[in-house]
Amino acid sequence: MLKNTLFLLLSFLTLNLSAQIERVEPAFWWVGMKNPQLQLLIHGSEICNRKVEIQYPGVKILKVNRPCSPNYLFVTLEINQKTVKAGKFDILLKQPDKTDLSFTYELKNRRSNSAQREGFNSSDVIYLLMPDRFANGDQKNDNIDSQPEKMNRSIDYGRHGGDIKGIQDHLDYIKELGATAIWCTPVQENNYSRATYHGYAISDYYKIDPRFGSNDDYANFVEASHQKGMKMIMDMVSNHCGIWAWWMNDLPFEDWIHQWSEFTRTNHKACTIKDTHASNVDKKIFTDGWFSETMPDMNQQNTYFWTYYIQNSIWWIEYANLNGIRMDTYTYNDRDAMSQWAKAITDEYPHFNIMGETWLYSSQDIAFWQKDAVNALKYNSNLPTVMDFILQKALSSCFNEHGKPWEDVGMNRLYNTVANDYLYADINNLLIFPENHDTQRYNYLLNNDLTKYKMAMSFLMTTRGIPQIYYGSEIGMSGNKGKGDGDIRRDFPGGWPTDSINAFSSKGRTPVQNEYFNFLSKLLNWRKNKTVIHNGLLTHYVPENDVYVYFRYNDSEKIMVILNNNETDQTLKIDRYAESLENKTSGTDVMTGKTYDLKTNFTVPRESVLILETH
Ligand code: CA
Repeated sequence: MLKNTLFLLLSFLTLNLSAQIERVEPAFWWVGMKNPQLQLLIHGSEICNRKVEIQYPGVKILKVNRPCSPNYLFVTLEINQKTVKAGKFDILLKQPDKTDLSFTYELKNRRSNSAQREGFNSSDVIYLLMPDRFANGDQKNDNIDSQPEKMNRSIDYGRHGGDIKGIQDHLDYIKELGATAIWCTPVQENNYSRATYHGYAISDYYKIDPRFGSNDDYANFVEASHQKGMKMIMDMVSNHCGIWAWWMNDLPFEDWIHQWSEFTRTNHKACTIKDTHASNVDKKIFTDGWFSETMPDMNQQNTYFWTYYIQNSIWWIEYANLNGIRMDTYTYNDRDAMSQWAKAITDEYPHFNIMGETWLYSSQDIAFWQKDAVNALKYNSNLPTVMDFILQKALSSCFNEHGKPWEDVGMNRLYNTVANDYLYADINNLLIFPENHDTQRYNYLLNNDLTKYKMAMSFLMTTRGIPQIYYGSEIGMSGNKGKGDGDIRRDFPGGWPTDSINAFSSKGRTPVQNEYFNFLSKLLNWRKNKTVIHNGLLTHYVPENDVYVYFRYNDSEKIMVILNNNETDQTLKIDRYAESLENKTSGTDVMTGKTYDLKTNFTVPRESVLILETH
């Protein structure tokens, strides 16, 4: 009897489980989008043969696709923007002899002016941080039952407990520094057993990792940042997911991801994408090979996946009110799919900005990936912003070396890099940075020399492009990538209750930390309103004796920057700059307030920089 009861109970449970819709994505959408189509991914046991019915004015079903797995339906809706109104309606899934399944779907109203949102641009300075390593604002989310990896600050690749609340609690610190945009490394769920802190193995594209907070927490954090005048950039990954992504045990299509008979790693040869001599096998391994054993490679040529992904990006922009996207491993994706993705986003949001990770080895390689670049392949990526990894490479050594005028060393590295700007379709949309979460820490490269740091930051904040700084640099934080990524991703001092130093406040910082912070804060806050720096023209002069001079100018202002990287004082021969100076006779240094007579030669001290507002 007991056995029979148990059997009946189990059958009942199974029946009920089989009659569940487990997931609908996107979970909701909006009326008034430019693209009238919406593709719903519906996941539930054995639902693929069901008929789909919707009764809602302005919404009709365009097509229903039944993929390889019986547990999915892809339903494409057409939303008539003229007649549809925001509201909720039921979507019915019917099958003869089976109980109807249904779920409620919602079309929301958009924020006013949502389509016209402003993206990040060259008026901004971006603060890049790793949420797990910045500040632990909520100790209750340090360990979450559903996530197998628990907090362990004693290992450098472990989770250290930082979260969204930790960042939100310190928005005033970032604002005081003078940054105007925040880029957090990925905050989407990374469900896996180890080393999930970096965030680049996403297991659920629609969910914030619960160890960082909830989706609502993230949206509230963006809103709080906006209220303090800071834009938000979300880090996204379309090239790969995490090995424990929710779909990995039940792929909707066999080619949802790139499958290989044995693990095949990408060859990292981005050049194959545009190399007319490249073999097909090399091209395939580059784009379809996996980034690592735990990062399955997504197939952007599967149109259902790609529509799903494009909608996911738009959903986050609209839901969380974003100002930008940073797309990881940009070149590793299918080239044409990425062009389609960037176009779909910028069609919806014409003033939005997207930066792609273009970690390549020459300026022409990087320029190829920028929207409207001229190239023999007639490829247009539609990607507004590319990352200037060539300038990053130049910055990583130029302040530590001195050489002959014809050598590519010292200030010539900066000059030679900027001299290649003719390659780019839009020089104001170059992300410029001395370091990020994947490179050597900049203060380590500079041997923690504040003098050199001041020169480097002065250059970064006055040349063309969108400057990005990396958390902790502003208080002199260092770290050696040679010891592992954990060393360049150390916890920010003051982010944890037991920290002995609290670098978030001037009182908590050491005198040296304050020297770093005060210098950078003054420079960034000066840059905020300087349109001449944001988008003025640039004229530069061939470096002499390791002194690099350039001007930023527009109709109303002219800034003269003098970088003396020489180990000895240098006399600036002012006549050489007559074509730029024109009628300007003096210049006031923005950092010291000291005024220089620009009618006569003057001495520029060794290893120093002047940013002169000319009069
Ligand atoms: Ca926490």
